[in-house]
Amino acid sequence: MITVEPLPAFEGDCILVNLDGSFILIDSGTKETYALSLKDRLHELSNQKKVIDLAVLTHIDKDHIGGFLSLLSDKEANIQIREFWYNTFKPLSTPIESHVSRRGQRIIFSENRAVSDAMDLTKLLNNKKIPWNISFEDKVVEQTLYKSVMIGNANIWIVNPDKDKLQKMSKEWLRQTGNLRHANPQGEELFRISLEDDENKSYDELTKLKPEIISSPTNESSIAIIIEYEGKTLLFTGDASQKALIYALEEWCRINQRPQSFDLVKVPHHASYRSTNFEFYEKFKASNFIISTNGIKHNHPSVAVLAQIIKNNPGCNIVFNYKDNRGCKYYSNRKKIPPDIKYQILLDKVEL
Ligand SMILES: [Zn+2]
Repeated sequence: MITVEPLPAFEGDCILVNLDGSFILIDSGTKETYALSLKDRLHELSNQKKVIDLAVLTHIDKDHIGGFLSLLSDKEANIQIREFWYNTFKPLSTPIESHVSRRGQRIIFSENRAVSDAMDLTKLLNNKKIPWNISFEDKVVEQTLYKSVMIGNANIWIVNPDKDKLQKMSKEWLRQTGNLRHANPQGEELFRISLEDDENKSYDELTKLKPEIISSPTNESSIAIIIEYEGKTLLFTGDASQKALIYALEEWCRINQRPQSFDLVKVPHHASYRSTNFEFYEKFKASNFIISTNGIKHNHPSVAVLAQIIKNNPGCNIVFNYKDNRGCKYYSNRKKIPPDIKYQILLDKVEL
């Protein structure tokens, strides 16, 4: 049996996938997520003599990397991690001309600030001798639609990032380490925009909204994977751009002769309004959707994104890890939703 548990991770993701006792941990939420939920869950696993077969950090944003930093700094933690996947600067810098790379390294070691979390992670993984990116040439986790990586009995394909997104991230890495503005200059603007898809609107009004898409190089660099196990396919997207996902997934389905439907989709970027390409939900179907966010910091998830999911996937399960975000509230009380619209709300975990 497959169990997927989105642990409470504040505004981030921390998702534990159990494939008949083989465990994959995707992201780790904020730093506080470790003390709040991840520590106890991993302790339970190590007591049962289980290991994490694969840990994946989709991208280096604080709401995804934080818990890993706390876990790897915790001297009492005794869970074994067999392999770790993430993208960090050094392997990323190899395709760029040497002068850029040299300059980047000089600045990194003198500045050590904005992307310091990711550099700390590398140090911690090396100190703990946790093998990272050993399944990939050049230690870069990069799109591979033709060939899967076997982890236990599961096949895993990398859907994102492609070369272009990695190049963008590599430049972003240099920008951040070059002591340029790290704080998201669009932060307040994004929060204001997130109010456009208003929960005062009816379900029918929500289905007619069309956002303009905003993205960031870190989100776009997200490692997105398909896990195929015992005939079931699960798509984990990090915060990847849906435009890139649409293209890669159509290719993947064509190459591997799979239908454009999944048993489970982790909704990208906490179902944010301005990073959702609604076409994605017209093209790809699923029976289960994971929404990971408490909604406090960024007002996620968008009620309009949820309307698209429900409209295109009648009878689907929406799995939340917090019940007091606006999306869960809006769709739990059903006041503004026509009675013939069918879906179920689940909390904290789903079994497939
Ligand atoms: Zn995120």
